[in-house]
Amino acid sequence: MRTSEVHSRFLDFFEKKAHEIVPSASLVSSDPSILFTVAGMVPFIPYIVGTERAPWPRAASVQKCIRTNDIDNVGRTTRHGTFFQMGGNFSFGDYFKEGAIDLAWELMTGSVDEGGFGLEGDRMWVTIWEQDAESYDVLTRKIGIDPQHIVKLTREEIFWSTGQPGPAGPCAEWHYDRGPEFGPEAAGGTIDPGGDRYLEIWNLVFDEFLRGEGSGKDYPLLGELEQKAIDTGLGIERLAYLLQGKANMYETDQVFPVIDRAQQLTGKRYGGGDAGAEDDVRLRVVADHVRSALMLVGDGVRPGNEGRGYVLRRLIRRAVRSMRLLGYDKPSMPELLPVSKDVMAQTYSSLETDFARISDVICTEEDAFRRTLETGTAIFDQVAGAAKSTSAGVVAGEDAFRLHDTYGFPIDLTLEMAQEVGLRVDEDGFRTAMAEQRDRARADAAAKKTGHTDTALYNSLLTARGQSVPFLGYTDDTAAV
Ligand code: ATP
Ligand code: MG
Ligand code: MG
Ligand code: MG
Repeated sequence: MRTSEVHSRFLDFFEKKAHEIVPSASLVSSDPSILFTVAGMVPFIPYIVGTERAPWPRAASVQKCIRTNDIDNVGRTTRHGTFFQMGGNFSFGDYFKEGAIDLAWELMTGSVDEGGFGLEGDRMWVTIWEQDAESYDVLTRKIGIDPQHIVKLTREEIFWSTGQPGPAGPCAEWHYDRGPEFGPEAAGGTIDPGGDRYLEIWNLVFDEFLRGEGSGKDYPLLGELEQKAIDTGLGIERLAYLLQGKANMYETDQVFPVIDRAQQLTGKRYGGGDAGAEDDVRLRVVADHVRSALMLVGDGVRPGNEGRGYVLRRLIRRAVRSMRLLGYDKPSMPELLPVSKDVMAQTYSSLETDFARISDVICTEEDAFRRTLETGTAIFDQVAGAAKSTSAGVVAGEDAFRLHDTYGFPIDLTLEMAQEVGLRVDEDGFRTAMAEQRDRARADAAAKKTGHTDTALYNSLLTARGQSVPFLGYTDDTAAV
């Protein structure tokens, strides 16, 4: 079953169950405090928090998501993309736990001929809150899940809230047992959700309580909400990889064609065994990041030095570098982007009409980065050589800063490149140098504004540096290594 069909089946099912079908919102959330849309519930927050009245009692969507916190997982786990699609059904004061569990079960285990996904009920495991007697009851008595397959977790482990006073509640998360070839069987009542065998596919969030002030997971529950809500998130790619019988989400029909093109370009063979394991990770990273860049630019993000633009820049740069590490030195985006576009346009048709613009933005960024790499890599090699000759094997913070400041090498690139050659980077030293630069910029701005040098700032700078180095303006910093 193609990923685009998993997507449409999800919506068709909930449409039949009297849900309003709401199109995906942009990846760029309208809430400026949120960098990207990270979950299906983001566009519905006002209805869940209760600041606005929902226009419908039930809704469903398949939401485009970006999660930057998963960037280091990409290609290494079977299940994390920086871009992915989340199916969600929502109830605003309508059905609650029993309704949500019934719907999820019916869709996941319903026969393919009748619009379901045909998963085997016996392979389902569910994590719930230890005090959620209602879910336990519905799951065991009504649905018939083996109590051994129900894992009870603490509030710290399985509660959701926005982090603010407002709604909070437990989740029930569905995990699918991929089978003994992926690891040992869990003992009854326990599960390793980070392992390969039990794949988390669907999270049902029960917004049940009102929470008070508190930090992190430490907050009081003040009572039950007047209007309870259901918010769920199903990983479309995760389901697709199960249904397609693939080993991970990067091998599905919407992602693998880019890996395939990248193997042709680089001459590397994907899945070639242990020796090529790092290359396999790189190929997956390329495919993931190309797709995320495509979708982000499609939603209007442009490369830049901060916020959303920086995330995009980093994704493009990592894809380009991964291709270089795989041995391909020519511009790769003109080769890879159209492949990603062709598969993604099956669901997102505007990518087709918008492609000339998208491609221009991404290819221009690649060209600029290739120029940066050409000059910066030579400098990095010198710096790394110097660091290697010391016993500590540490790239000095000042050097990392110079690479950043003079050669446009972002710190994460320096970190990555250092790691590849077995070096560490003095990150504290780098941060100190950055802070000093910020202070200098501020001092310059203050001097401009007032027409004279703001000595207070210079003084604090000197104090911060322990007065060991006189403030010279750092013009000598830019000298070549
Ligand atoms: P995990 O524990 O695997 O990182 P999660 O608990 O962070 O997942 P949720 O926040 O519960 O994920 O999101 C709901 C669903 O979205 C998950 O059950 C999963 O199916 C899917 N999902 C979450 N993160 C990703 C991702 N990075 N790539 C693909 N699918 C994802
Ligand atoms: Mg996660
Ligand atoms: Mg999880
Ligand atoms: Mg989860």
